[in-house]
Order: sequence, then C-alpha cells, then structure tokens
Amino acid sequence: MREWTRNTIGSCEPCGKVNYASRKAARRAGRDFHPGQHIAAYACPSGPFWHLGNLTPGVICGRVSRGQAYKRAS
Ligand SMILES: [Zn+2]
Repeated sequence: MREWTRNTIGSCEPCGKVNYASRKAARRAGRDFHPGQHIAAYACPSGPFWHLGNLTPGVICGRVSRGQAYKRAS
C-alpha cells in the first residue's frame, strides 16, 4: 500500500476531489503522487477536509500569496 492512500477519506462531492484529513497529509500525498510538480494543499470550501490542487501561475511566481489564491471558507 502506498503511503498516501492511508490518508485519504473518501472524496468530496461538490469539489470532485479526494479528501485528506489534514494539510500535512495532503501535502505528503501531493509530493508522493505528483513528484516534481507544484501541488498545493488547500482547505475544502465545502467541508472540513483538505484537497490537493495545482498552484496558480501567479502563486508560483510569487505575485499572489496562497492566502489570496485559496481563501479558506470558515
Ligand atoms: Zn471539497
């Protein structure tokens, strides 16, 4: 079993993405599942879990902070 599979908690219907229990779990899964890519962990806007997504070009270039790119709805 690969490490990241233990950290998933089903999937999120509104987002169509895999749920992770924590930012740490999501980031670890991102590194394992998408090596060499810019993967961001962000809080699900519809639920208590975390998802993985590609960083926007603005974030990668440092023009936009992650807080601006992914606002946490809470
Ligand atoms: Zn979601």
